[in-house]
Amino acid sequence: MNTELIIGGKSVKGEGDAIAVLNPATGAVLASVPEATPGQVDAAVQAAKKAFDGWSQTTPAERSGLLLKLAARIEDEAAALAKVESQNAGKPHARALGDEMPAVADVFRFFAGAARCLGGSAAKEYLAGHTSMIRRDPIGVVGQITPWNYPLMMAAWKLGPALAAGNSLVIKPSEMTPLTTLMLGRLCAEIFPEGVVNVVHGRGPATGQSLISHRDVAMVSITGSVGTGQAVMRAAVDTIKRTHLELGGKAPVIVFDDADLEAVVNGVKVFGYYNAGQDCTAACRIYAGRKIYDKLVADLGSAVGSLRMGPTDAEDTELGPVISAAQRDRVAGFVDRAAALKHMSIVTGGRKGEGNGFYYQPTVIAGARQDDEIVRKEVFGPVVSITPFSDTDEAIAWANDSDYGLASSVWSKDVSRAMKVAARLQYGATWVNTHFMLATEMPHGGLKMSGYGKDMSMYGLEDYTVVRHVMVNLG
Ligand code: NAD
Repeated sequence: MNTELIIGGKSVKGEGDAIAVLNPATGAVLASVPEATPGQVDAAVQAAKKAFDGWSQTTPAERSGLLLKLAARIEDEAAALAKVESQNAGKPHARALGDEMPAVADVFRFFAGAARCLGGSAAKEYLAGHTSMIRRDPIGVVGQITPWNYPLMMAAWKLGPALAAGNSLVIKPSEMTPLTTLMLGRLCAEIFPEGVVNVVHGRGPATGQSLISHRDVAMVSITGSVGTGQAVMRAAVDTIKRTHLELGGKAPVIVFDDADLEAVVNGVKVFGYYNAGQDCTAACRIYAGRKIYDKLVADLGSAVGSLRMGPTDAEDTELGPVISAAQRDRVAGFVDRAAALKHMSIVTGGRKGEGNGFYYQPTVIAGARQDDEIVRKEVFGPVVSITPFSDTDEAIAWANDSDYGLASSVWSKDVSRAMKVAARLQYGATWVNTHFMLATEMPHGGLKMSGYGKDMSMYGLEDYTVVRHVMVNLG
């Protein structure tokens, strides 16, 4: 397996410590990947800086053409990419290949089109004898940091808009899941001019910190935890960098008494446990109307108990492991502390899996109260809590009573009620009678401590540009 970094269009061996990259389904070492030293991070930033002048002057059509080539190469390599993504991130292979690879290619296709549609909004004489125009220009070198839950997808969400807008970049994947981003870097090196896309690898406080605090990095975009987002904001202070933050989530799911319960159960079974629940939008915090509460607890318990947890290469596996032993123990800690409280019960799951892999059983916890840790903190694992509510105002107040503001859903057959509730929720996304569904044309991003950057959509592209006013004196 090629474990080299991409700096200035070349494959380069990391000169720092070697980091063991594991297969979470077995605990076995997949590869040993040397991390980039601060000097190599600097070399990557300098390569991106050098490339920026030429790349930022290319036409949208030229950039679009290269992004389309990248989408096609990802489709060519989809089998190899999906295999490595599945092994490194512990994803069921069928899902990595069938869901994620097409979505990754689609993101690059969307931004190939979007590059050609970006425009300024004014061309007018606002002062007599002077014509004003608005330009949307690239920002410069962008430092990009991604998490381990969707390594390649998060890289696509970051590279697509940054490149479409004409920025050059250095990306650092999670030290636990660098392999597909290194593969993507090699595809980019075939296609884009030297230095436009650089990939470094290493731990957050070392390699990551060197990147986010580099003086020549004009913008940092990060998907990760709140703590890392705060580190990015702190590092941005010295040189007033732009920041683009996609942080955690704790999505409320409001289920009214008139909801289609079968649809709710089937929905939460998928949207609460996809990717072993390691998803910032996971349907993990249910508020249920009192009339349907008992039935929902029983039906969801038996549906979730039937999820097939197993080897990631088995076609019928629905649930793989979580990313690491530490993450599995963290998930177990949340569930054990909940189980120790008398008012909560573990309806299904609640235990670690057998064997050397980092499995945790899909778990439903009933009787949770608003102030419980399981309702307030992001677990990032296959665990869903259910809390009964008495009326609409209480459900909305509890749903909004969170540090996070990324995703939410409302389930009711009464569309007008669902729309009224959606309007009062403080979340970047609200789904009605579904959850989790993304469209590349639509923005994804949060409020409050979930951050403020938008991924995908024209809004995502705009986030990677600066608005400029140019005025011409007509003489
Ligand atoms: P994390 O914050 O631990 O790590 C994310 C990335 O930041 C990694 O590449 C890590 O090496 C790097 N990092 C850590 N400290 C750093 C530092 N001081 N300087 C620079 N880089 C540093 O997060 P994680 O555990 O990999 O991912 C899980 C988190 O990501 C969850 O909170 C989840 O909700 C969030 N997430 C959010 C979205 C979204 O779209 N909002 C999507 C996926 C994941």
